[in-house]
Amino acid sequence: MPEEPSGGFGFETRMIHAGAQPEPVTGARNTPIYQTTSYVFHDTDHAASLFNLQTFGFIYSRLTNPTVAALEERVANLEGGRGATCCASGHSAQILALFPLMEPGDEVVASTRLYGGSITQFGKTFKKFGWQAIFADFDDPENVRKAITPKCKAIFCESLANPGGVISDIEALAEIADEAGVPLIVDNTLATPYLCRPIEWGADIVVYSMTKFLSGNGTSVGGAVVDSGAFDWTRNDKFPSLSEPEPAYHGLRFVETFGDMAYTMHSHAVGLRDLGPTLAPMNAFLTMNGIETLALRMQRHCDNTQRVAEWLSQHPMVDWVFYAGLPDNPYKGLQEKYLPKGAGAVFTFGVKGGYEAGLRVVESVDLFSHLANIGDVRSLILHPASTTHRQLTDEQRQAAGAGDEVVRVSIGLETVDDLIADLDQALHKAAGEVDRAAE
Ligand SMILES: *Cc1c(COP(=O)(O)O)cnc(C)c1O
Repeated sequence: MPEEPSGGFGFETRMIHAGAQPEPVTGARNTPIYQTTSYVFHDTDHAASLFNLQTFGFIYSRLTNPTVAALEERVANLEGGRGATCCASGHSAQILALFPLMEPGDEVVASTRLYGGSITQFGKTFKKFGWQAIFADFDDPENVRKAITPKCKAIFCESLANPGGVISDIEALAEIADEAGVPLIVDNTLATPYLCRPIEWGADIVVYSMTKFLSGNGTSVGGAVVDSGAFDWTRNDKFPSLSEPEPAYHGLRFVETFGDMAYTMHSHAVGLRDLGPTLAPMNAFLTMNGIETLALRMQRHCDNTQRVAEWLSQHPMVDWVFYAGLPDNPYKGLQEKYLPKGAGAVFTFGVKGGYEAGLRVVESVDLFSHLANIGDVRSLILHPASTTHRQLTDEQRQAAGAGDEVVRVSIGLETVDDLIADLDQALHKAAGEVDRAAE
């Protein structure tokens, strides 16, 4: 096990204090919501030096905002990274993460197990930028090595994949990325820095949908890109946006000027400036407050989920349960290595009776909410075949782990016995209705 990132303080202390001080003018103890678009310059020289990136400071909230900046410092600290860029959503974080690295015609090698929305973004929308996603089965890291060409600029996976619960061998993938001279980017949304910190295992960049467990209450869409600061962008000629002169800033070279903050500075000064997916200060505030209870919530999420998964795997109306916390799961070994505190809160199970039974289960729950999100204090349930994966063919659905019988749950923080009782009555109702339909 790698050590906790430094700073002298423990994880729980940092999730409450990192990035935040009492506000100097009023003494406000919680970080205020700086609901402002822009900031008054001291004088014309100050304005000029801000625009030349010679002075750190606030210009316009598309680039930086004090509430968002406090959140960025907190997320970077918890992750053990050098800097972070927060943005409007997890999907914009993925674009921002690749933007400093990719030129038209370049490739990113990505896992076939990515979240469905990411598969679409990488496979279809990135093509419009001239970015090519090469998908590979990351279960055998050798597949990743084989997929790398000279045009490859990054390797992208999820630490704990949504929804399948597949776990990536981050250390092995980091070694392959290092040999190829490209960064390993890990989407750590389902694990959070409480369960897994990919940078400690050699990842170079971590991305988040903060919409899920970081904000935690299902209130705010948001994303983050965290840079380890450890990748040398001048070690080869693959990353000219960071190593070569930037015409929009009078020929400034990001690596030369900002050192290990080059990537994070580029994400603000060019990425947010020109792509524009800014995080609203209100959402930054809500996410900061969510993070203050992250350790407590994640541990309870994991404990509740372990109980529900174990109970479901004994249920007569359930065919199978896929959760890395179960002893017979193929990813159990990787879970013990990378997520020893727990296997997260999202998993899938197969209901006996196929499509109809799956549909009936989500219609019959009372406490669980039938919706398309994860990582809420509330327990959530979804039947992918009739919703998120509805447009796909049967074959595609099977390949995506979204077959007819599959139900996805995100276990919340309610009393676990109440969750079990709710699923039990829904499974019985579904079985009864399917039996009657067959008669
Ligand atoms: C939800 C999710 C995303 C997309 O994030 P948004 O905040 O919805 O844009 C990306 N990756 C994973 C693993 C997710 O669960």
